[in-house]
Amino acid sequence: MIRAALCGHSHAELRNLLAPLPSFRADQIFQWMLRGAESFSVMSNLPRAVREDLDRNFTIYAGSVEKRISDPDGTIKIRIVFPDGAGIESVLLVDASGRNTACLSTQSGCPLGCVFCKTGRLGLRRNLTAAEIVEQLFHLRLIEPDIANIVFMGMGEPLLNFDSLRQAIEIISHDSVFSPRRITVSTAGIVPGIRNLGDSGLNVRLALSLTTAEPVLRNRLMPVTAANPVPDVKESLLYFQHKTRRRLTLEAVLLRGINTRILDAQSIAEFARGLDVVLNVIPWNPVPGLDEEFHAPSGREIAAFTGYLKEKGLNVTRRFRRGTRVAGACGQLGADPT
Ligand code: SAH
Ligand code: SF4
Repeated sequence: MIRAALCGHSHAELRNLLAPLPSFRADQIFQWMLRGAESFSVMSNLPRAVREDLDRNFTIYAGSVEKRISDPDGTIKIRIVFPDGAGIESVLLVDASGRNTACLSTQSGCPLGCVFCKTGRLGLRRNLTAAEIVEQLFHLRLIEPDIANIVFMGMGEPLLNFDSLRQAIEIISHDSVFSPRRITVSTAGIVPGIRNLGDSGLNVRLALSLTTAEPVLRNRLMPVTAANPVPDVKESLLYFQHKTRRRLTLEAVLLRGINTRILDAQSIAEFARGLDVVLNVIPWNPVPGLDEEFHAPSGREIAAFTGYLKEKGLNVTRRFRRGTRVAGACGQLGADPT
């Protein structure tokens, strides 16, 4: 029998799971898990009989960390495998000012098949539960307790697993007192999902992986475009922004000689019109097996592309490569599928 995992549940769920144990016990256990307890035996304010009983019926984490790889730039990638064999990866990133960001997955694999993305090549194995999403944060906190930001930019499309995503954000922001303003959801552009997120009242930040707004090319690179046409995605962003009044991020993975044309820059400038956005350009990170088809752009290519957009008045930032040596950078997750 697989023992139920306690980590990643809300206070209320935990009380239900642990009934008939009194709710103050559930709260004590919750506090221990928040502090990173990895076994029931260390929970010294619980009677021994309770601890033994817990050990027989529950585990703390559902998944086990099967691998941990550190990059010299500070990035740490962990691979978590769940009892059914589904695997995911989660990443801890350190930015230039020393702040830590947890990059979490929402699905094992991804059904959307963006042609430049390693995860997309895996296909979807399954959605994660809310507890499995939250558990990643706990595993990363054992490595680095001080996490400033959370980005849903790991494996999978968050808005295709909306209910679990919503629950996970609620748990993270209510129980662990993590401000939703420090949480970013990244989407490939699921129109109903963006609208739902706008309506949800969750108050998180939103990033759209635009890559190009030129419809024919975008459809080739990101097949999700067929069911979610570029103008509809823009409409949904206008709606989201109207609802939340939050600045949006547009992301563009730059592929040498493919989406760095003036035509692509123009399409992005046009797309951004009327939206309060910052554009984040990400030079393509190499993925084994895809590196004959795609290449990172040259410095000159990036400069010309971003120069054009800056001239058009767009706020452009460049994301520096982090974690490429551990294959923990954008689009490199899932290099070894389970
Ligand atoms: N599915 C969501 C969340 C995953 S985020 C989304 O696509 O937004 C993954 C981010 O990495 C996306 O912005 C994607 O465009 C980008 N990406 C994918 N493959 C990449 C690669 N090989 N190099 C750099 N960025 C990549
Ligand atoms: Fe899925 Fe995002 Fe990768 Fe596209 S870029 S395949 S949506 S994880």
